[in-house]
Amino acid sequence: MKFRFILLAFLLGTLSFSGKAFQITKDSKYLTTIENVDFNTEDATDQYLQRLSAEQKENSDSYFEGGYWLDLFAFVIDFVIVWVFLSFGLSRWIKNRAEKFRNVHIQNFIYLVLYFLFSYILVFPFTIYRGFFREHSYNLSNMSFGGWFSEEMIGLALSMFLLSIFIVLLYWIISKVKESWWIWGSVIMVVFLVFSMFISPVFISPLFNEYKPLENQEIKEEILSMARANGVPADNVYQFDASKQSNRISANVSGFGSTIRISLNDNLLNQCSPAEIKAVMAHELGHYVLNHVYEMLIYIAILIFIGMAFVNWAFHKLIKRFKTRWAISGISDIVGFPLFVFLFSAFFFIASPVMNNIVRSNEVEADNYGLNTAREPDGFASVAMKLSAYRKINPGKLEEYIFFDHPSGKTRVYNAMQWKAEHLDEFAEN
Ligand SMILES: [Zn+2]
Repeated sequence: MKFRFILLAFLLGTLSFSGKAFQITKDSKYLTTIENVDFNTEDATDQYLQRLSAEQKENSDSYFEGGYWLDLFAFVIDFVIVWVFLSFGLSRWIKNRAEKFRNVHIQNFIYLVLYFLFSYILVFPFTIYRGFFREHSYNLSNMSFGGWFSEEMIGLALSMFLLSIFIVLLYWIISKVKESWWIWGSVIMVVFLVFSMFISPVFISPLFNEYKPLENQEIKEEILSMARANGVPADNVYQFDASKQSNRISANVSGFGSTIRISLNDNLLNQCSPAEIKAVMAHELGHYVLNHVYEMLIYIAILIFIGMAFVNWAFHKLIKRFKTRWAISGISDIVGFPLFVFLFSAFFFIASPVMNNIVRSNEVEADNYGLNTAREPDGFASVAMKLSAYRKINPGKLEEYIFFDHPSGKTRVYNAMQWKAEHLDEFAEN
């Protein structure tokens, strides 16, 4: 930046010497900066916020706030399900079917496949409302019922088979180590988490979307140049066809070790200006360069350990209390699996504000990295406005603290405008 300033000063001197001073200084950096002294962060933020009409704001607020209640309702449903499985004897009934097989691991596997199937059927009315009808009512989905349902079935098949195999392994470890089961159980869970992070971009995401190297040559060069400048290999940047599911703009960093990559969706590429794309891409580079994937893994691992300690404590208390009704012999008895799932998810439900704060603090870091790297505060602010189609734009402070895993639109626009106010000399040409 300094170099450009010196060059400009030099040009100015030379040209004014040749008698064209007025014409040139009018466009000069120095004068524009003086004009920009009027730039006001609050006003600039307000101008962006006004891009959302009253109706659009009402829609995105109600969509997002409805999500809080649906999360709570989902928790209540989890409770009902564990009740149906344990107190109505469904869990015991499934175990009895599975006992036709002699090998305990096969018994557990059969139990788990049936457990995932039955719990999916029990929750299905809620799933179809939240995932299909509600999305359509807010105009956020591009999927036909058939398309939506087939993705659901892929998800169900993955939990019925991949997840079941992992849980069989977990129960095998539990039966071996007895007392310290929750410590070893946590270790296994973290290992499985790393494994699924590793295979996800290569084997799981492609089941839902087509991933390929970036196509648009103009944008590609700019993005890849920024990637190179930040030490991210070009092979690690992909695009995918999210428009088949919705019009939402998004990008992400996924994978682990050799499979780590940045993916931009086609909505971002089709609906956004080069400045906006650059701003988003620089944010994603931030996640990549700052090793957020690994940092998140450490945080989640800590939460898993605490969660398993909680499950260990609560599980034993509850099976003692409901001994005659549930007849669960201990933690290694697969009949108690629904209770295990409920307690574990209850812990993560209660810990969700903690989780949101961990994720949001990384998002803030990536936002700052992105602003400093792309140097496109307006691109960033306008893309933050576009994201507000499905994220409440201006929540209260406490609301943002508890429920938001990304900074709110208003916070993002304000930060971008503050950054701009403090780097006005770069925007002399505008
Ligand atoms: Zn992010």
